[in-house]
Formats: sequence, structure tokens, C-alpha cells
Amino acid sequence: MLNPTYWLQVVVATPAHSQVAGPLSYRSEFSLASGSLIRVPLGKREVMGVVWSCATEAPTGVAEEQVRCIAGVLDGISPLGESWRELVGFAARYYQRGLGEVALGVLPPSLRTLDNTQLARRLKREHNKREEQAGLPQAAEAGELASEAPTPSEAQAEALRAIAEATRPVLLYGSTGSGKTEVYLRAAETALGLDPNAQVLVMVPEINLTPQLEKRFRDRFEPHFGSGALVSMHSGMTPPQRLSAWMAAHHGHARIVLGTRMAVFASMPGLRLIVVDEEHDPSYKSQDGARYSARDLAVYRAKVESERHEATAESGRHCQVILGSATPSLESWHACEQGRYLRVNMASRIGGGSLPRLRLVDMNHQPKGVSLAPPLLAAMEERIQRGEQCLVLLNRRGYAPVLACGDCGWKSGCPHCSAYRVFHKLDRTLRCHHCGFTQRVPRACPDCGNLDIAPIGRGTEQIEEQMSALMADMKRPDGTAVRVARMDADTTRTKGSLESQLAALHSGEVDVLVGTQMIAKGHDFRRITLVASVNADSALFASDYRAPERLFSLLMQASGRAGRDARHSATAEMWVQTWHPDHALFAALKTHDYPGFAQSQLLEREAAGMPPFGYQALLRADARTQESAQAFLNLAAEQAADLTGTDEVMLYPAVPLNIQRVANIERAQMLVESDSRLALQRFLARWRPTLLTARHSPQGKGVIRFAIDVDPLSV
Ligand code: ADP
Ligand code: ZN
Ligand code: ZN
Repeated sequence: MLNPTYWLQVVVATPAHSQVAGPLSYRSEFSLASGSLIRVPLGKREVMGVVWSCATEAPTGVAEEQVRCIAGVLDGISPLGESWRELVGFAARYYQRGLGEVALGVLPPSLRTLDNTQLARRLKREHNKREEQAGLPQAAEAGELASEAPTPSEAQAEALRAIAEATRPVLLYGSTGSGKTEVYLRAAETALGLDPNAQVLVMVPEINLTPQLEKRFRDRFEPHFGSGALVSMHSGMTPPQRLSAWMAAHHGHARIVLGTRMAVFASMPGLRLIVVDEEHDPSYKSQDGARYSARDLAVYRAKVESERHEATAESGRHCQVILGSATPSLESWHACEQGRYLRVNMASRIGGGSLPRLRLVDMNHQPKGVSLAPPLLAAMEERIQRGEQCLVLLNRRGYAPVLACGDCGWKSGCPHCSAYRVFHKLDRTLRCHHCGFTQRVPRACPDCGNLDIAPIGRGTEQIEEQMSALMADMKRPDGTAVRVARMDADTTRTKGSLESQLAALHSGEVDVLVGTQMIAKGHDFRRITLVASVNADSALFASDYRAPERLFSLLMQASGRAGRDARHSATAEMWVQTWHPDHALFAALKTHDYPGFAQSQLLEREAAGMPPFGYQALLRADARTQESAQAFLNLAAEQAADLTGTDEVMLYPAVPLNIQRVANIERAQMLVESDSRLALQRFLARWRPTLLTARHSPQGKGVIRFAIDVDPLSV
């Protein structure tokens, strides 16, 4: 033979649940490293693939002459590392998706679409950009970095020591304003100083909500590492931006990657530290495609990186992971109790400020029909007269969740969903928040012609309107009128609007800000001394067993926006309007007793065999009719009965989802439980192939799609 032949296993993008889940065989005239990005023929198309392995022997069981030759190699991009491949392989296995779907899905889309000439041009441009930056001050000694940084408090120094020595994942449990971010910055500084190629990954729930965090990292590290040292990664970026950030991380030019959950898959060959800020936040769990938990994958990734390298003297592990929160997830809390994670506490606020006092307003004793109780209003007025700011939190945008006819009972239902359309008064529309269907508000009841159709319930628009009316006669210290503003998904839709609204709040142009939970998270507001939650009760009695956990953390988070400046902290208050002031959740909230709350929740969960004591997965089906969705699930359950290992799991009956129909698609699900993670995993791996058969059987006819959700956030 003239040319030696190399046999490659190549991973290509495959549609969800396709039969070809694993790598495909190709041949090549030259040897290629695992992780190389190449182009291969697939059917009549040419697609991008990742080399998973390369051998000199033909794989057994393939007809050699049918194996096609690769089409080319993506020039100028170094192969993806072994730990990256291991992470992707694990994610595909654990979350029951195709390897190709995950591997190719987490790479920047432009890699797939650009040809070699375009790619070369892109790489050249990146190179030039770096050359320019090379003129800027370069990597300094770690000690020098700290010059502009505050001296760590005793608690911070203690936490940093514990982190440095930790050989396990660290849960940094610190109340809001305790200086966790400063600990991340210091830990990052240490990690970056470990070797010249060291990289740090910082994950945040929603990048748009945390421009401040990004700024703090930039301010701290860019003067020393140059302006290309930090890149962000989130879904709001354009494809060229994503490609550029990805390349910078992959080739090691970016030392810090700051991103949302997708960033957990960033290729970072020098990774030494992963920070997951607000680790309890539900947005770390992907809700479509591969439904992965970026927090859990971060822990896995750090473990893989550490196993791959010898631990160094400077740090207990090669790659450290820090999960930070004031209200950790019960999963992480439990992992600390079990000793799998190390809990590091930072109890007090920076500057010795105290946490806001909780004030419960018993709505049973308030005038009928008020949305804002008089004592709350009075407290707000007091603040405003002192030149301080207030936040009012309501978890519903729009003016009112429903519009209804008093005569015939018509309600503003969505014709395409089993949900009501929300009344938006500003543009007089009825909008479905599930499918987006929008119409002008009808002049009269569409069913009976009655002119008197009225809103029921309240949303942020209405609270803003009422607040403005109620405060019309109040005055600010300088005698001017009170300024009320609103911030929610509606007011922040256009680019830059979020930043400008936050800036207005920071600079004191707003006295009262009304908004949804997006205002509760992360922001370091300086002059807010009162935060009010006006309608939190629905979560107290929700069927979702995680609802109390979420409410508790939301209220803690929200109250954490108040009194962040120690000068104001003595008067900072969190007001909660409730019809159930005696609820145990409020008792724990009052004393800021997260450990107590967590313990009682964990006891309940243990008694009920719920996560983190039991393990769950959902099989979900979308179909034209509810019957076909459920028929598919029932067939899947029948097929499961024939598999081995089914006795280790418990299959529940198929049920419609809470919001059963969205955009004319009927949705149903089936819960699978086991008290062993491994048993559940084994079962799912056996079950998945049978689902494909079920999908193509007569019972699967009306099914549009199905998905397995491992460790679902709500069931
Ligand atoms: P968290 O992330 O826990 O909410 P931050 O890190 O944002 O807390 O700290 C709260 C505030 O205290 C910030 O304004 C920060 O700049 C300041 N801060 C943090 N650490 C220190 C320190 N050691 N000395 C002085 N100020 C600090
Ligand atoms: Zn009517
Ligand atoms: Zn709808």
C-alpha cells in the first residue's frame, strides 16, 4: 500500500434521538489527534466533525471499502482537549442525549458554517487584535494585582485559606453583601498566578443581570492581563462574537471566561478554577435540548481536570470549583452535610452592616382590596423623604393577569394555550406569555357584548400606576415629585435599556423601582433601604415541592438588595405582604436562618424520598392531542416493564403538564424515580432506545417530540 490509512471515529451533529448516536467511521491518509476539528461527507452533505479517536487498524464490523475519506481539516484550530471530550461524553450519557448532538451543539455555530478561507481570515483578525493589545501592560506578579483591591476582611481571608487547601468542591455560603465576589476575585487571582496559561471560568445565572460583576472582573484583571483577557459567553452574543470569544478561550488568550450556563462547555485548556455564582439559581438548568445542569457539570468538570493532572503544592486540586450562594440549593447543602463538598461560611456583611429586618404585613388586617398596605406606604414615604430608595417586587409583568367579563364570565384565555392572556394596559393588548399571541383589547366582551370588562389581579404595570397615584402628593427632600419606575422583561426588551435603567437607579434618578424578580438578583445597589414583596403567597402552597426553596431564596436575595451600604444597613427592611404571616417559612426568613430552613426542608424531602434523597427523571411528550401524548408515554411504560433493572425504578402514571397546551401543542409527562442514581441511569440508558421504537409505532403517531429530563427542576 502506498498511503497508510488511518481509521477515525468521528462525532458529527446528529438530530436529537437519531439512531446514530455514537461516532462514525472515516478514513484519513494522515494521522489526526483526538479532538481535531474536521469536515466529513455525510450523505450528500459535508459536515463538521470532531475526531474522537484515531487508529491504524480498521474497526471491526465495518466494511472497509464503504468507509469514506474525510474531506478536510479545519486549519489553525488546535484539537479539543481530553477533559473537554470527557465532559461532553459524560453530559451526553448522563442527560440521555446523542454524543454528536451535545458535542457539536456546544461549539460556536460559525465553526460549522465558515469555510477554511473565511476561518483563516477570522483567525488573522483575532491575531491582529492581540498584537495591538500586546502593547498594553502585560501579566504582572500576582502580588501587584492586589494593589487596587480592598484588603480582605478576616472572614474573607479565612475563606480564601480554606479554599486554597480544599480538596473537594467548595460551597461558599455567605449572606448577601458578605463579600463573596471579592473572594471570587481573589481566588481567581491566585489561580491565574499558578501558571502562565492558567484560566478561570466564572459562571453567572443571567449575564444581562450582572453587568456589575463583569465590570469588577474587568477592572481587576484587564489592567494586568490586557483587554482581551476576559471574554464573555452567553446566548445574547452574535455568532461572530461567540466564535471570537470561543477561540480566545480555546487558544488560551482569554484567561477569564465569564458566562451563563453554556460557558460550562467552553474549551479552556488551562482551566484551574470554576466559580458558579448564585449556584442555586434555576437558570443553570437548561430547559431544552440536552437538559443539563451547568452547576453539576461544573463540579464534574473540575473533578475531571483534577484527575487528569497531579495536584500542585499551591492548591489542593489541579482545578478548584467554588459554588457561591446566600441560599444554596438543597442539593449542595446536603452534599456538605455528607462531606462531599466543603462548606465555607461568611456570616456577616462587609463593614459589619446587619441584614435587613423582616416586616410581615398581615393582609387579613388591611383595608379590603388594597394592593399596598398603608403601613408599607408610610414606611416607603419615610425612606423617600430621607432621600433613600425602595424596591417593590411582584412576580407578574403586565397590568393584570386576566381580563374578565362580569356578566357572562368570559375570561381572556389564549386560543392556543391552556392559559390566560395577560392584559397590558400601556399598549392596550392581551398577550399570551406562553406562545406570544397578541391582540388588541376588545372594546366589549367578545361573548356577550358587555362593555364592562375588567382586569382581575395585579401585575407590575398596575403596581407602578398605583404607586405613582399614591405618591402623587409625597415630596422628595428637595421638594420635587417622587419618581417611580418599572423594570421587567417588557421594559428591558431593547438593547441597552437594561443597562440604562440600572444606571438611572444607581445614580439616584429613581426613588421607587417596581419590578419582577430580575431586580432582586445580584445588583449592588447602594441607596436602597426598603424592599417590598407585595404578593408572594402563591408559592407558599404551590404543588411544586421546590416552591418554598425558591421563594425563600428569592426573598433573601431581594432583601439582600437593601442596606448594602453599611451606613444605611441599620434601617434596612424587607417587607412582605402575606395572608399567611404564621407560615414557617417566614419564621426562618425573619431570623435569616437559612440553615434551619434547609434542615427542615431536607427532613421533609428525606421522609418523602425526594431529591436529594431520591433521584428523578421525566419523560415528556408533546403531541397534537393529549391522548396521543399519553398513549406514547403509556407504551413507553409498557416497554419498560420488559427491561431488566426496571424493578429498581418507579414509573408514575402519565399526566398532563400544569399548562397542558402551549401554542396548540398538548404536553404530557411521566415521572421516573429511584433511590439510586446509578440504577436510574442504567434504566434510562436501556429505556431510551425503546422510546425510538415507540415513537415510530402506531401509538407514537401524533407525537411531535419527546425528551428525557434528568434531575428535573420541577415535576
Ligand atoms: P456579595 O457578592 O457577597 O453580595 P460583594 O463582594 O459584592 O458581596 O461585597 C459587597 C460590597 O462590599 C461591595 O461593594 C464590595 O466592593 C465591598 N467589599 C467586599 N469586600 C471588601 C473588603 N474586603 N473591604 C472593603 N469593601 C469590600
Ligand atoms: Zn360577557
Ligand atoms: Zn398562548
